[in-house]
Amino acid sequence: MEPIDHLIHAKWLITCEENNRVLENHALAIKAGKILALVPSKEAKQKYQAATEEHYHSHAVMPGFINSHTHIAMNIFRGLADDLELMDWLNNYIWPAEGKWVSHDLVYDASKLAMAEMIRGGTTCFNDMYFFLQASAKAADEAGIRAHIGMTIIDVPTAWAKTTDEYFAKALQFYDEYKNHPRVTPTMAPHSTYTVSIENLIKAKEIADQYKLKINIHLQEAPSEIAQSMQQYQKRPLERLHDIGMVNPNLIAIHMTQLNDRDFEMLAETKPNLIHCPESNMKLVSGSCPVEKLLTRGINVALGTDGAASNNDLDMFGEMRSAAFFGKVIANDPKAVNAETVLKMATLHGAKALGIDHLTGSLTPGKAADFIAIDLDSVETQPVYHPVSQLVYATPRHQVTDVWVNGKPILKNRELLTLDEKELIAKARSWRDKISPARYTISTAIK
Ligand SMILES: [Zn+2]
Repeated sequence: MEPIDHLIHAKWLITCEENNRVLENHALAIKAGKILALVPSKEAKQKYQAATEEHYHSHAVMPGFINSHTHIAMNIFRGLADDLELMDWLNNYIWPAEGKWVSHDLVYDASKLAMAEMIRGGTTCFNDMYFFLQASAKAADEAGIRAHIGMTIIDVPTAWAKTTDEYFAKALQFYDEYKNHPRVTPTMAPHSTYTVSIENLIKAKEIADQYKLKINIHLQEAPSEIAQSMQQYQKRPLERLHDIGMVNPNLIAIHMTQLNDRDFEMLAETKPNLIHCPESNMKLVSGSCPVEKLLTRGINVALGTDGAASNNDLDMFGEMRSAAFFGKVIANDPKAVNAETVLKMATLHGAKALGIDHLTGSLTPGKAADFIAIDLDSVETQPVYHPVSQLVYATPRHQVTDVWVNGKPILKNRELLTLDEKELIAKARSWRDKISPARYTISTAIK
């Protein structure tokens, strides 16, 4: 018998591999933080001598979700201002609030609050873009979650940096600190083409090329962005990036709700990764990303929640459902963006976009043991005809019972093992008291 660390028995193993294998009454064999094999449970008991054995009798076990676009610390501003147009929301509410309150301490506390929410909802990896990078990275290190931290570049002064040169200097410093971290990965993150000059976009690309970093950018999010770009440069944002050689498989283009025929051609030729954030797009009425059309052209589309201030949660179950429903409406086809596709967008496609599909994103031997267990034995999800359909269309996030990253549990029977829930809630309340709109009369002070 081969000695291993853990044997994880499940009613269903949802692999999220390209071929969408679903295995019943199988087990995951885990050794040294990695998936060694997927075997029938009966066979596994004869084959392996496991140090610990878990039995998820009524559960689906699947790879952890990859939330491919977030601004996690913004969940401290969740519900501060809603039901507004994007530019009104940003210019008059969110950016002034950030200017006044964002600090290392706020980002650290808010990041931990967001990580607790993500872990309880089955997310094992997120791809962030924000400020005070060390605060989010330290929180991720302590929480045991996998984190891609965007080194934000923006030609707008904030509490984090006063000039674009300072953003670049801080980015390089962060890269040096975290380049060898086992779970925290630095990425390049110029905010958008309307907030970063072409010179600075080129500089960001040069740094990304030099250090082999992915580039995240908000792109063609709303009609106003296209109109502004056409007026100023007589070119669409995607074309401007194409001109400087940035549109390629290394690019992570976020939103992409405004696409014309030329854009489709360019995307099909150059194959960047697209991140679809349906709830943020719907809430801000930014537009609609034509997911089915992109997927049929072989373009990788993954799923992100965006920040909780524009969503208002970090719930990948909700995002999957929205992506499926919205995708069908946009394609005018009930067969479009089906449950299997949307589950892969939330897992394997995210790993591909982040360049870590060799490491995570599916239950495949050799990959890290990043997985979640979801109990389907409840009135909301019984009976089960097709577990994938149930996960996408019916399962609420609180049915996630256990979460593992790198072969280590970080949520067990709904209990957070790496974060102190009571302390996080107390800190969130104390930030709310400081930021409280009662004292912060933003609607009169800013407008
Ligand atoms: Zn965003």
